[in-house]
Amino acid sequence: MFKGGPGLHTWRARFFCGRGRKEPVCRWGVRTTVRDGFQRQITYLRVSLTERCNLNCFYCRPGEGKASERDGLSLDGLVRVIRAGARVGIRKIRLTGGEPLVRPDVTDLVAALAGIPQIDDIALTTNGCLLSARAAALKAAGLKRVNISLDTLHPDRFRSITRNGEWSRAWAGVEAALVQGLHPVKLNMVVMRGINDDEVLDFVRLAADRPLHVRFIEIMPIGASSSWASDLLVPADQIRQVIADRYGPLRPVKPAGGGGPARCWTIPGFKGSVGFIAPLSGYFCPSCNRLRLTAAGTLRPCLCQGDEIDLAGALARGAGEEELMQLVIQAVARKPQGHPKHEVLPVRDRLMSQIGG
Ligand code: SAM
Repeated sequence: MFKGGPGLHTWRARFFCGRGRKEPVCRWGVRTTVRDGFQRQITYLRVSLTERCNLNCFYCRPGEGKASERDGLSLDGLVRVIRAGARVGIRKIRLTGGEPLVRPDVTDLVAALAGIPQIDDIALTTNGCLLSARAAALKAAGLKRVNISLDTLHPDRFRSITRNGEWSRAWAGVEAALVQGLHPVKLNMVVMRGINDDEVLDFVRLAADRPLHVRFIEIMPIGASSSWASDLLVPADQIRQVIADRYGPLRPVKPAGGGGPARCWTIPGFKGSVGFIAPLSGYFCPSCNRLRLTAAGTLRPCLCQGDEIDLAGALARGAGEEELMQLVIQAVARKPQGHPKHEVLPVRDRLMSQIGG
């Protein structure tokens, strides 16, 4: 039986309570949060809905037919896990994958999650190609915002980076997100030396007259690119310098849509912003607030380390909410402090799409 209250220590995780206005009310009538052994409050769950993807980006996936293609937990399993997580402090859910929109039940899932009172933010990370047809329904179901991954503005490059994707479909997804008001609409570009680093200023310009938040991401040595990502790495400071050389000094702003690892900046007169996610040259482990639910149905406390807790097995055994809550608490307790500064060891046990990038 799950027990909690002020000062409770469970493994290395600690519950504490504080009064919150619109906050979920746990059984003691107060807000429940969970901290890991390093005093980080864990409020965010990223969920890989499937390993499948309608694109095959060369740095993310090993190529058609070369990776497993399973879906994650069933809709019912996902809702049960997330409801349990919400009872111990999870407030924000990001649906990702693989490509989350290849699952036909994603709108039903969003609607179900929107009905969990403690969850106050539901976001989606997508390549955008299936978004234009579904954006309105997702918004109506309760989706708040989207991140769209787009590494190039050139259709022919898009085709070679994604191994045959159609750029116009991805761009239609960006436009649909803006039309539906899935704000802040973030555009995530993995900057790769010699592949697309000549497009940085083109991406910056997208934020001039549209409320788009462009974020430049350092490539990480994960999955398909685990042994050669460093050859393509463009450190965030170099990208920032390119932008500052063109636009002058950038002014820091709070990231649109709240926290997360991005450091964000505005350019005078722009409707959107630019940001940098620098897992290698920057260091954001000390503020990490997340767990990941993999497409294998395991809870992964850290993106870069292979430790996982099997929830699929627990669900198959008929685990109830109290047991699932305990497993979430265990995952929080097992969060490592992080990787050494400026050093991410290659992640080879899973692909990014399995973990939920
Ligand atoms: N299919 C969805 C999409 O494209 O947004 C969600 C899954 S995809 C794995 C999520 C993000 O992970 C994408 O922005 C992708 O560029 C990024 N990603 C994949 N492999 C990466 C790597 N090795 N380093 C940095 N980002 C990576």
